[in-house]
Order: sequence, then structure tokens, then C-alpha cells
Amino acid sequence: MAEAVHIEAPLEWDTPLYRQALTQYEQALPHADVSESVAERLRYPERSVLVSVPVRCDDGHYVVYPGYRVQHSSVLGPTKGGIRYDPEVSLGECAALAAWMTWKCALLRLPYGGAKGGVRCHPRELSQSELQRITRRFTIELVDVIGPQADIPAPDMATNEQTMAWMMDTYSMQKGFAVPEIVTGKPIAIGGSVFRHEATGAGVVMVVERACGRLGRQLAQQRCVVQGFGNVGGIAADELALKGATVIAVSDLSGGVLDESGLDLPALHAWAAEHGSLADYPDAGHVTNAELLELRCDVLVLAAREDQVTEENAARIDAKLIAEGANGPTSVEADAILAERGIPILPDVLTNSGGVTVSYFEWVQDLGRLFWTRDEIRARLAEKLGDAFDRVWELADERSLTLRQAALVAGIREVAGALEARGIYP
Ligand code: NAD
Repeated sequence: MAEAVHIEAPLEWDTPLYRQALTQYEQALPHADVSESVAERLRYPERSVLVSVPVRCDDGHYVVYPGYRVQHSSVLGPTKGGIRYDPEVSLGECAALAAWMTWKCALLRLPYGGAKGGVRCHPRELSQSELQRITRRFTIELVDVIGPQADIPAPDMATNEQTMAWMMDTYSMQKGFAVPEIVTGKPIAIGGSVFRHEATGAGVVMVVERACGRLGRQLAQQRCVVQGFGNVGGIAADELALKGATVIAVSDLSGGVLDESGLDLPALHAWAAEHGSLADYPDAGHVTNAELLELRCDVLVLAAREDQVTEENAARIDAKLIAEGANGPTSVEADAILAERGIPILPDVLTNSGGVTVSYFEWVQDLGRLFWTRDEIRARLAEKLGDAFDRVWELADERSLTLRQAALVAGIREVAGALEARGIYP
């Protein structure tokens, strides 16, 4: 019988964020009834790709950027996940985010596994033409590992509809015909879906509303703080206000703005669009991001990035409910502190899954060349999120788990069940 391989050197993706994803997985496993061989397989991403992306800058010189794509599990179908442009992108970050995407897709019962990728760069220092060249060259580097039935990218931090349009065009040029189903989150003009742009932020609020219902609270009476004012946070703030809640503070990289009587969100969007950030906004008070996280509120929406609520600040969080719009914003230590303090966390794999759910709708529409209306998509999204939320809530109740553990257990069970049925090849 073959001996287990004892690997001395750390694996390339073995970073603190990957450890966080793995620790959460280990904590969920005892409740998931998974065989050891399947559990072991799912500890590892299936494929990790590291490429270098040479790009000509506007002044004529060349810079080579590292690019990554990690595919965690293809058991249930093609892998799916965002592409981010950020100075902190690494193999470990992509591997952690890819694993979370696997559990998220499975929890939502979408026929996908998880992936994540990106280019390590400073996107705000790059021109549109430089971003376009990075995107097109990165797409070519990945052309053999992505595909509508293999791996389908989507936008993430600092990438958007335009980035997806460049990816779709580059891929289509290689194939010789239009392949809209290669990416999701693209412009409607080239096969994007209505409501995809708003889906993650709107989904966050659908989940918060359902949680308020279970907790016997009215969403309209909640005072909310939102960290991150991009695609997820900006739209979540708008949706909260639309449902009558009071958004007292929001923030971006430059810091936060605060008005206890409720912020003027359209004015903040206009300011951020004109000035590039919320800095120096004249009609509200200003707080740092660290202060913003500790403001007294009913709902704290974390919609910036990973690792925001940690061992260091968890004891000072003064919210009654935390909603994770971002991926991995709460560390494992903070999770334990908040559980001890009785502050429920609506976990990322459930709470921000509106984006991948409408991405799935977009892919289905592209494959069928038949498009749905905004109302149809909103209703189907509410149904999917409501079903997942109820399964998570009931499992948490039944097994005395946190909502995060229950969400992971539900996701892991779906993937593990499929892998048990298929068997580990050969
Ligand atoms: P984005 O680039 O549009 O917005 C990010 C926002 O966070 C910006 O306002 C930025 O200034 C701010 N920010 C960054 N670092 C910050 C910090 N340290 N403190 C405060 N603000 C900070 O990105 P996005 O698409 O909104 O993604 C945000 C998070 O949501 C990421 O974790 C992403 O993985 C996750 N997510 C996004 C989607 C989607 O559909 N876009 C879906 C699921 C999850």
C-alpha cells in the first residue's frame, strides 16, 4: 500500500487567507458527514495557474505583472469566479477565494465549482488603455484553461463590465465567433444580463431582510453602516435606503462619512464619481475606516475586502447584526469572539451569493440565446436566496451551529455528495 506523502515545504498557496478558508472547512467537516477520502480531496484546489503578463505602458516601456487563476473544484460543473486587479493578489488569496466560491455555488445549488483569479497590479495607477492591454494579454495566457464549459470569469475588485467585454472579445477573436458565455458581468449589449450589476448588493439586502424577519426586526427600522462603496457596498447602501433603513455611514479606501440622521446617498455617489473617492465630501462628518467598523449600529455591512474584523477589533464591534458582502472579511478569531458576544454574522458564502446567482442566470441566457426581464431575474434571485437562507437557518438551529458553519456544511455536503457519487478518478 502506498504511503501518504509527507510534504515538508509549505505548498505554494498555503498563506494566512488560505489557512482561514481551510480552518473554516475543518470546523464544518464534523457536521457534514463526508468520507475521509472526499474530505481530503476537497482540501486542495484542483488546478492553480501562475502566468506572467507582459504589458506595454503608455510611455512605451514594458512591465511584467504576475497573474493567477485557481480552480478549486469542477465536481458539479464548470468553475466560476471573479478576476481582481489588486496589489495583494496572490496564489493563496485566489485559492482561498476559489474554495469559498465552491461552497457558495453548491449552497445555492448552482451547477458550478469555485475559481478565482487576478493580476497583481495597482489598478488606480493604470490608464484605461493599459488596463485593456493587461486584460487582453491575461485572457490569452488563460485561454487553454478557461471556457464556457470549463471556467467562467466574472468581475471582482477593480474589474467591471468593461473588463469583461475585453475578455469576451479577446476569447471570441481566438475562436472566430462571438462567445458571450465565456464571462459573466459583461455589458448588456454583448449578452450581459439585466440586474447583474446590482445583483450582489441587492442580494445582500435580500438576505439581511430575511434575517431581520427571523430575528423579529423590521428592516425599515435598522440603522446601517456600510464599509466599501464600490459595486457591492454602493448598491447595498442604496437598496437599504430604498427599503426604508437609515444608512448612517459608508466608506471607501479614503475613509468614511457619517451622518447619524442618514446620508444623502445620491449626493455621495455623485461626489465619488466626480472626485474618485469619498474624501473631502463636504456635507457629512468624517471617520477613519477603523472607526467606522466600531460605530454603534443595527446592521454592519462589510463590503470592502477580506480581513477587516479581526481579533484586534472584534471586541469593539457595536453592531447587532453583521452582513458579509465582501469575501472573508471576518477572521477565524473574530468569528469566535463575535459568536461569544452573541452577534450573528450573515456569512459571505450566503450573503454575497446574489452575484454568482445572477451570473448563472446570465450564462444560461447566453447559452439559450433567450433573455429574461428584470422582474423575472429579481424574482428568481429572491427565490434562490430565500431557499438557501432557510436551509442555512434551519441547519444552524438543528445542529446548534453558527450561520457560517451551517452555510459551509450545507455547501460541503452538496459537493461531497456529488464526489461520492462520481468517485475519485480513476
Ligand atoms: P469594488 O472594487 O467595486 O469596491 C470595493 C470598495 O471597497 C471600494 O469602494 C474601495 O475603495 C473600498 N475599499 C477597499 N479597501 C478598503 C478598506 N481597507 N477599507 C474600506 N474600504 C475599502 O469591489 P466589489 O466588486 O464591490 O467587491 C467588494 C468585495 O465584495 C470583495 O471582497 C469581492 O470579492 C466581494 N464580492 C463582489 C461581488 C461582485 O459581484 N462584485 C460578488 C461577490 C463578492
